[in-house]
Amino acid sequence: MDRFQLERLAATPYPQQTVWAAMHQDYSEDFVWDKRDRFPSETEAGELIVKYLLAGDRGHFGPLEHPQIVVNVGYFPHSMMQQLRTHRVGVSFDVQSFRYSGKRIIDVATGDRDLEDVFYLRPVGKYTNRQGKRYEYTPEQRQADCDWCRAAAERYQQRIAEGLSEEHARSLIPFDTRQHFVLSCNARSLMHLLDLRWKKDAQLEIQKFSELLFVQFADWMPAIATWYAENRAKKAKLSP
Ligand SMILES: Cc1cc2nc3c(=O)[nH]c(=O)nc-3n(C[C@H](O)[C@H](O)[C@H](O)COP(=O)(O)OP(=O)(O)OC[C@H]3O[C@@H](n4cnc5c(N)ncnc54)[C@H](O)[C@@H]3O)c2cc1C
Repeated sequence: MDRFQLERLAATPYPQQTVWAAMHQDYSEDFVWDKRDRFPSETEAGELIVKYLLAGDRGHFGPLEHPQIVVNVGYFPHSMMQQLRTHRVGVSFDVQSFRYSGKRIIDVATGDRDLEDVFYLRPVGKYTNRQGKRYEYTPEQRQADCDWCRAAAERYQQRIAEGLSEEHARSLIPFDTRQHFVLSCNARSLMHLLDLRWKKDAQLEIQKFSELLFVQFADWMPAIATWYAENRAKKAKLSP
């Protein structure tokens, strides 16, 4: 899977218990905190959430907004990051702007960094365009495009050496430069991201991102992720 990476930086501990507590407070006469010694286990809480909150598509997703996960996403192309950033509700991002720094680009020009570590080009292979027409991205085309990226890096290096600011010279950088970023979201917004971006007609790279995000989700909130996989994943459902 190319060199795409998605690692967990932090996440709310006991996320399923947290959701259960929020759900329980919706109908409990008592202060839920007082029952903390009798909370269901993390596994039992997951089963109860599925049974009372999610099964039958009840549409009561508020309690899922409490647990938060923070991930570090690496080596995806700029276009993928740009697509993700259209999601505003419950999702936050931090990403290099290239306004203050761009040493990676110069490193490609000087040969200190692998070009493919910095610039993303799709693998050689067979693809389909938006009109359903098949085409092939050949090794020769890809090599020529690598050369194009190297030439752009050299031009960037030259302009920086001539005194241009990074903010100015960044206009020369090819569009799909790889960008690392930090993303945080809650469990509800995470499922919303997957709903919109894990579909077969979504951009290939964002489908890969979705796969990697789902792996973290399944590790963090297994019962909810299993329910999601069985009921919503890749079904183009909208806005949980
Ligand atoms: C296949 C596809 C193609 C796209 N193409 C383009 C494109 O070419 N150019 C482009 O700019 N964008 C494009 N987008 C982005 C799209 O227009 C939305 O900006 C993006 O999907 C985020 O919307 P969201 O519903 O996920 O909002 P989120 O910010 O994730 O919000 C979640 C939900 O909260 C509610 N909500 C959020 N904000 C508002 C609001 N202001 N008013 C009312 N309800 C709100 C909605 O129910 C929304 O679904 C594309 C998206 C997809 C999935």
